[in-house]
Amino acid sequence: MSETQSKPDDGSSESQSAFVPVEAFDLVVFGGTGDLARRKLIPSLYHRFCDGQIPENSRIVGTSRSDRSGIEYRKIISKAYKEFSSGDDYDTSCWDDFEQMVDYVPLDVADKDADWKSLGKALSKNKERIRVFYLAVPPELFVGICQGLKAAGLVTKNSRVVLEKPLGTDYDSAKSINEGVRAVFDENRIYRIDHYLGKETVQNLLVLRFGNILLEPLWSNRAIDHIEITAAESIGVGGRGAYYDGAGALRDMVQNHLLQLLCLTAMETPASLDADDVRTEKLKVLRALRPITSENAANHTVRGQYARGKVNDEVMADYLTDVGVDFSETETFVAIKAHIDNWRWAGVPIYLRTGKRMATRRSDIVIQFKPVPHSVFGDTHLNANRLVIRLQPDEAVRLWLEIKEPGAGGMRLKTVPLNLTYADNFTVRYPDAYERLLMDVVRGNLSLFMRGDEVEAAWKWVDSILAAWGESEQRLELYQAGQDGPEEAHDMLSRYGHKWV
Ligand code: NAP
Repeated sequence: MSETQSKPDDGSSESQSAFVPVEAFDLVVFGGTGDLARRKLIPSLYHRFCDGQIPENSRIVGTSRSDRSGIEYRKIISKAYKEFSSGDDYDTSCWDDFEQMVDYVPLDVADKDADWKSLGKALSKNKERIRVFYLAVPPELFVGICQGLKAAGLVTKNSRVVLEKPLGTDYDSAKSINEGVRAVFDENRIYRIDHYLGKETVQNLLVLRFGNILLEPLWSNRAIDHIEITAAESIGVGGRGAYYDGAGALRDMVQNHLLQLLCLTAMETPASLDADDVRTEKLKVLRALRPITSENAANHTVRGQYARGKVNDEVMADYLTDVGVDFSETETFVAIKAHIDNWRWAGVPIYLRTGKRMATRRSDIVIQFKPVPHSVFGDTHLNANRLVIRLQPDEAVRLWLEIKEPGAGGMRLKTVPLNLTYADNFTVRYPDAYERLLMDVVRGNLSLFMRGDEVEAAWKWVDSILAAWGESEQRLELYQAGQDGPEEAHDMLSRYGHKWV
């Protein structure tokens, strides 16, 4: 992993971030008119450009099927930027300079007669230059695009490919995509993106665990009772209904984001932060996940779908209305009691939960420690220590401790947090995860990207759940929009004496 540097706390809350410019590059965005490109990729490149990180002679080429000129494409991305950004960071002169780098080439990648050479013409003549092919298109197009690039002679020795999630729909499709892409690009030139790994707070998890001596001796079944990982969204399926209905929460969120968070929380200390050291440790966690079976699925998993309800006092339609179908068995919520079968984590339940149209948007990792083995405080109730890592929003790390409430008149205890709220401690703007990840691709830093075997191992575990649901005809529980999932998800924890935080 690049750029590790630690500064002693000098008492000031100011923090300066210097951006190290990357080499000039050519970047082709397949799916350049899509939601992801308009909302995330282009704005991220613009921000990096305005901070002086991207040299002006770089090129960004959007491509999709529709026939349009470069001018028309630039209008589309400018409009999208104004629509999706907060508005305060739109700098007309910087945008004008940024646009100079942007072009558009129409190309139907599924058409066998497609003119791939036209794409080549939009790229720099310099064959030594870094070339990034960003595939922001459905995964069934990945292999065809790689083959098209190869056949047109566009894959140079400095080329790399970025694959958006989801990488397939199950283990078999992921394996076949991996094989197809590897026939064109070596593994160390394939960047499988999971934008959660680009989030500041997720990277901080590594520093928290491996940059401090305090936590590691406690980081196991000796002191930890259970772990909760939640990624809750208050939004519904939005314009992604057709895709989502074929995927569901398990494939859309658990297979990638939640399992990546689980890996970073549970993995052994890597020998270094080099990509393969980290990825090998994550893979061991995925391989040690106990498969869910049809015998235990009902006890260890909950599937839910949102019904009509209120989020922030606004009435929201049910899932079927949002997707525009009369019937669907797709889950918009899933809760899982997972186990990692190794020495460190034997006997520690790890609860995973994600859902749409929940009460609030938040992602948390909760480490619930065990109670003290013996209380010297008589009948006074002691709350066990808890570490809460708030990934978004209001990024924070809070360690809940027991202290003596000040004052005369006996020993009264109180549970209070040691509170590290990012906003109170750092005044820098948090770059979007895609900003960091895009620059890592250009730099050739693979640490925050998934290796092929990791993705396949994650699919294997998810496939076990899908198969168990199919065999056991696992029920789909309805929950009202604005609730934290179905009641059954709370019951699943209370059966084991636990409670979602
Ligand atoms: P989208 O809005 O549906 O955009 C798809 C893009 O692919 C469009 O630009 C479309 O352009 C292009 N396209 C489709 N078929 C094509 C073909 N045969 N040849 C050339 N271009 C083609 O989808 P999206 O939301 O941007 O998502 C893209 C991928 O990223 C999906 O796999 C999605 O799951 C993943 N992803 C999206 C998000 C997100 O926030 N949106 C987040 C994570 C992952 P034309 O129709 O004009 O050809």
